[in-house]
Amino acid sequence: MLKIDNLELNYGVIRALKGITMEVNEGEIVTLIGANGAGKSSTLKAISGIEKIKSGSITFMEENLHRKSAQDIVKRGISHVPEGRRIFPGLTVLENLEMGAYLRKDKEGIRQDLKMVYERFPILEARSKQDAATLSGGEQQMLAMGRALMSRPKLLLLDEPSMGLAPILVREIFSIIKDIKKQGTTVLLVEQNARMALSIADRAYVMETGSIVLSGSGEELASSKDIQKAYLGG
Ligand code: ATP
Repeated sequence: MLKIDNLELNYGVIRALKGITMEVNEGEIVTLIGANGAGKSSTLKAISGIEKIKSGSITFMEENLHRKSAQDIVKRGISHVPEGRRIFPGLTVLENLEMGAYLRKDKEGIRQDLKMVYERFPILEARSKQDAATLSGGEQQMLAMGRALMSRPKLLLLDEPSMGLAPILVREIFSIIKDIKKQGTTVLLVEQNARMALSIADRAYVMETGSIVLSGSGEELASSKDIQKAYLGG
């Protein structure tokens, strides 16, 4: 579904991605793990067209995303939930969700998807008329995910969904991610919480300073001694 080949991305003189190659197959949860600054967020930003790449290619459903605008990429079925849950403060929860569907014209489909989002995140329905800025951290994460789902993505890019959340909410978010996969959306997940990420991932890639250094099934990597030492606290 998604193929990344020898992708390079620079910020000025900083080489954030030094030629990464990876793929995501339809129906999978694939996770990218690695230390701070390894290039995980940059990979997602390159896919969603937020950052320009230096070289290499990104192909989604057989189509090269080169020079496509971020908006075009959403239209093709990729939705990105950035790190730090950028919800729109000053807009209500419902308005935030509607913003997620702003490129769509199918009113009936939008209505169905809003219902689906409310079923998945009942708290968002309870708070639908409230200013999004008044939500707790966990609720804002749910809103950011709900908003992304409102574009009816084929591929959902999630950047650190567990960041800053209490353990019970982390478990809830991960269970929702599994659910999203079950409903047929493919997921590329960036996580610091490697243990949780590997536990739900079909496959994983490990990044270090702009390169992919290891890959395998979630299970394989979770049981690897090296990974345990480096990323899972021994
Ligand atoms: P984190 O979990 O901390 O976000 P990451 O693995 O997602 O880490 P990136 O955010 O992709 O890593 O960053 C990769 C490298 O690029 C780092 O060295 C980072 O400092 C640098 N970088 C990221 N964004 C920018 C930017 N806008 N300008 C300059 N350098 C940047």
